[in-house]
Amino acid sequence: MPSPDPGQIPGPASPHRVPVLLPYPFPGPFDYRVPPGLRPRPGDVVLVPLNNREEVGVVWDATTDQAVPEHKLKSVVGVLDTPPMGASLRRLIDWIAAYTLSPPGEVMAMALRVISAGVGRPMVRYRRADPLPAVRITPARQRVLDVLARDEPRSGTDLAHEAGASSAVLRGMTAAGLLIAETARPDQPFRRPDPDHQGPALSDQQRQVAAALRAAVGRGEFSVTLLDGVTGSGKTEVYLEAVAACLRAGRQALVLLPEIALSSQWTERFGRRFGVAPAVWHSDLASRVRKITWQAVAEGQAPVVVGARSALFLPFPDLGLVVVDEEHEAAFKQQDGVVYNARDMAVVRARFCDAAAVLVSATPSLETVANVEAGRYAHLRLTRRHAGATMPAISLLDLRETPPDRGRFLAPPLLEAVRRTLAQGEQAMLFLNRRGYAPLTLCRHCGHRMQCPNCTAWLVEHRTRHQLLCHHCGHTIPIPPECPSCAAADSLTPVGPGIERITEEAEAVFPEARRLIMASDTIAGPSAAAAAAHAIEDRSVDLIIGTQLVAKGWHFPHLTFVGVVDADLGLAGGELRASERTVQLLHQVAGRAGRAEAPGRVMLQTFIPEHPVMQALLGGDLDAFMHSEADSRRDGAWPPFGRLAALIVSADTAITADTVARDLGWAAPRGDGIVVLGPAPAPMALLRGRHRRRLLLKVRRDVPVQPILRSWLAAVQVPRGGRVDVDVDPISFL
Ligand code: ADP
Ligand code: ZN
Repeated sequence: MPSPDPGQIPGPASPHRVPVLLPYPFPGPFDYRVPPGLRPRPGDVVLVPLNNREEVGVVWDATTDQAVPEHKLKSVVGVLDTPPMGASLRRLIDWIAAYTLSPPGEVMAMALRVISAGVGRPMVRYRRADPLPAVRITPARQRVLDVLARDEPRSGTDLAHEAGASSAVLRGMTAAGLLIAETARPDQPFRRPDPDHQGPALSDQQRQVAAALRAAVGRGEFSVTLLDGVTGSGKTEVYLEAVAACLRAGRQALVLLPEIALSSQWTERFGRRFGVAPAVWHSDLASRVRKITWQAVAEGQAPVVVGARSALFLPFPDLGLVVVDEEHEAAFKQQDGVVYNARDMAVVRARFCDAAAVLVSATPSLETVANVEAGRYAHLRLTRRHAGATMPAISLLDLRETPPDRGRFLAPPLLEAVRRTLAQGEQAMLFLNRRGYAPLTLCRHCGHRMQCPNCTAWLVEHRTRHQLLCHHCGHTIPIPPECPSCAAADSLTPVGPGIERITEEAEAVFPEARRLIMASDTIAGPSAAAAAAHAIEDRSVDLIIGTQLVAKGWHFPHLTFVGVVDADLGLAGGELRASERTVQLLHQVAGRAGRAEAPGRVMLQTFIPEHPVMQALLGGDLDAFMHSEADSRRDGAWPPFGRLAALIVSADTAITADTVARDLGWAAPRGDGIVVLGPAPAPMALLRGRHRRRLLLKVRRDVPVQPILRSWLAAVQVPRGGRVDVDVDPISFL
């Protein structure tokens, strides 16, 4: 058998068979027979039979599996009229599959979902020939012609439906010259951003950083740069210059944002800089827009895409720049299905595309900082806020000394600060990272706590909806009139605050203030987010009360005071990254204050003002904090100085979960630089009705994790009802 050229992507081993990867969790591609006349090439999107259905798949690069004899293979049905999946995207898919231990088809599904929804097919539209040729007109043909006489060209499906004719009739009519099939193209859905439209006059420091980024893009080769700068220093303006350089080089650019659906301010800013809107990509797009966008990206007609993590799987033919804004954000980690971190995979994609990757943050993750220190990533810094705006003045409010009034959550000094801010005609924000009215409801009489039956979690009261709600599985019940345990009437009491309760309190104290609640359940989508942002910009809002949604890169020039209701909240669980994350989140929130002329002030309510996190926020020396955080991880070889992978066992019964967890414990890998922690019940020991156990593999940085995981998993039989999920580089330990 001739072996494929070394250094070349292996092509099909035989002209008569091709490997086709299907969007399902099979271990790899399946071979199909190539019928005469077809010449599918790697990346082609094909239709193939699978279990009596026709499925869309992609011709893959793997050498074919000769085990199945050729006469037993099923045939490829056809090649779809859609741009092929490029080599760099196929390599990314293989890479992610190998890294996350996911079946490649499941990873590929993320790139293919749109095509399966029909991109490849309804591109053909039918028009009535004029004049009509003199051929036989059956009643069915006449109905088709009638439909087309009235209106515009139609897709085959629509036409067949409206005329009550089969697709065979349409084919016959086309062959007879009665219909003209034309490939429908939406005209240029995205206009070309103009790199010279209207750049701001950059400060000296911004100019130097922009030049360095432009140079990185201009080299046209793989590089990674951390762009690190205080909030409001112009990081966005500066990386838009890198986007401009990429446009000038004629390549495509991708900007990943953690909450793109809510980032109206970002797209507006892009519009000001480049004169047109960017293509936007996220999971809530209407399917028609998805198809048009996907197609435009594939054809290079969408020069800039801004998107959520799924945008990584768009078929860019020539990607020259990937920007990951707020690179430290946990939102880049996908927790369901294929568990991957889009920040890290963006770097991988950049490598396969010879593109520049730019990671942007005011509070970079320790992982990224470690990569900078090891010399793997370049580092650019902006140290000052734009136009002389100063960093906000931060103070700690010790709740042990100045507690709020009984049954209240806002301490007098904080209320006073809000009052003064409002009196000056400026805007104030109260931040609490907790939706709903109260995180816990308990019976004053018997102490019963209202718990989710499916999860290890309390039910959260949502008073405006008159419901108790599980934030993990969505289980809801009406607020019961009496305690379900002891039947005492009117004994259920809310414990602790959520933002609804803070809003109620603020309303009592500042009845005149125009309030706006910003949380994922009140700001449901892009237009609501844009409306909220405009209301704040127009000053038709005085007081903003929000969850972590308000921490995202908003720029509100009239906002001068931020009050953090519970600065200790994120530290409670004691997870590996609790301190790092709390600093990042609170620094981001604080960074919303005083972004224009008027200086900003921030007050953090805390019971532990002496905690290093509070001290770091107070002193503003995040570098020092991150260094000591790094030191504390170095000794135990915790990330980024070691690698972690979690195995999450889940099962429909506790016994099955325990059995699988125990077997995994017995089969645990051993060796130099390898540690296994657990099995132990997960903190969420019950989630959506499934019993959960966890094991954690910790290895030295130089020990590759995947081979260890593969042989570990292979050693254990998982019975029906049980499963083991793998989370490489976990950031959540629930
Ligand atoms: P960051 O991304 O670092 O938080 P931004 O890029 O959002 O900072 O900049 C903060 C604000 O300052 C934005 O409104 C931005 O338009 C403005 N800005 C930054 N640099 C300049 C500049 N050189 N000229 C004009 N406006 C600028
Ligand atoms: Zn639940």
